[in-house]
Amino acid sequence: MWIKKRTSKVIYVGNVPIGGENPIVVQSMTNTFTEDVKATVNQIKELEKVGCEIVRVAVPTKEAAENIKKIKEKISIPLIADIHFDHKLAILSIEKGTDGIRINPGNIGSQDKVREIIKVATERNIPIRIGVNTGSLPKNILAKYGHPSPEAVVETALNYMKFFEDEGFTNMKFSLKGSDIRTTVIANELFAKKCKYPIHIGITEAGTVLSGAVKSATGIGILLYKGIGDTLRVSLSSHPKVEVKVAFKILSSLGLRKVGVDVISCPTCGRCVVNLPELALKIEEALEHIKAPVSVAVMGCAVNGPGEASFADVGIAAAGNTFILFSQGKIIGKYPEKEVVEKLIKEVERVAVEKSNC
Ligand code: SF4
Repeated sequence: MWIKKRTSKVIYVGNVPIGGENPIVVQSMTNTFTEDVKATVNQIKELEKVGCEIVRVAVPTKEAAENIKKIKEKISIPLIADIHFDHKLAILSIEKGTDGIRINPGNIGSQDKVREIIKVATERNIPIRIGVNTGSLPKNILAKYGHPSPEAVVETALNYMKFFEDEGFTNMKFSLKGSDIRTTVIANELFAKKCKYPIHIGITEAGTVLSGAVKSATGIGILLYKGIGDTLRVSLSSHPKVEVKVAFKILSSLGLRKVGVDVISCPTCGRCVVNLPELALKIEEALEHIKAPVSVAVMGCAVNGPGEASFADVGIAAAGNTFILFSQGKIIGKYPEKEVVEKLIKEVERVAVEKSNC
């Protein structure tokens, strides 16, 4: 492995291990009202389909906390309750069976209220994510540093770590986030040197799909390259399943997770006489159900086409208006555009089964 992951303690959110040598876990967060059980469950099921491994829901009301039990009964992945301001909602969420909670201890109100959460989380063996965001640092820290600098974020997180450890609680992970990459990266780098707990990474409020995905890939990519990050969320102003897809793309681009189909397609140029961008997109969407790691090349002409298509598990290279289909390095046929997609999908499904049985 070309990236050496930081050593961290292992914790469990439900049955999903986070930290240590475990794969980096992909999370997302619903954007439905948690008071609406049906809508929330439906969205979680959509997230499960694209491979989301842990889901977080907002718990701003008593009704939302009460619904944790009903939601959990209908989903297959661990659920985390996201709590702000009201410690009673954290306690109720734990009592209703949440697999983890996410709090910012700074906005819970008092240390005694945080202690009450710790007590119940300890009794139920529930992990806590301690989230520190540049937008909500304690007043004394902001006064000391003058602005939400990386050092201010780190000092806040270390103070919380000490408080929780002094209370005898170690079933925790941390997230240090800012909406700009520089602050987030420096803060996490400084913090990782002083922390043995798992770290959840992400660029908060990253933006709309394109700018958010680029910002997230850049910031998260830098951290992952430095070995930091045991679990991650890509935050986008979009449907959360897009977050999951982008997260897996980031991890697979770095070779840290191999899940699903990786489509390699050329940018096309004046030699390409087929509508390759449309074809590549169609193929990518048609193969979303495949979970085994299969590389698929979709190439526009004979210049780089046969090479890339034969290096991939399955590939097609255009030769004028027809396509040559490759599988595991060998030519298996030549087809016109209207037939090639179906032939390629069947071949990818066959290779995926073969890989799953390995
Ligand atoms: Fe152009 Fe062919 Fe390269 Fe695609 S593979 S970019 S069509 S030269």
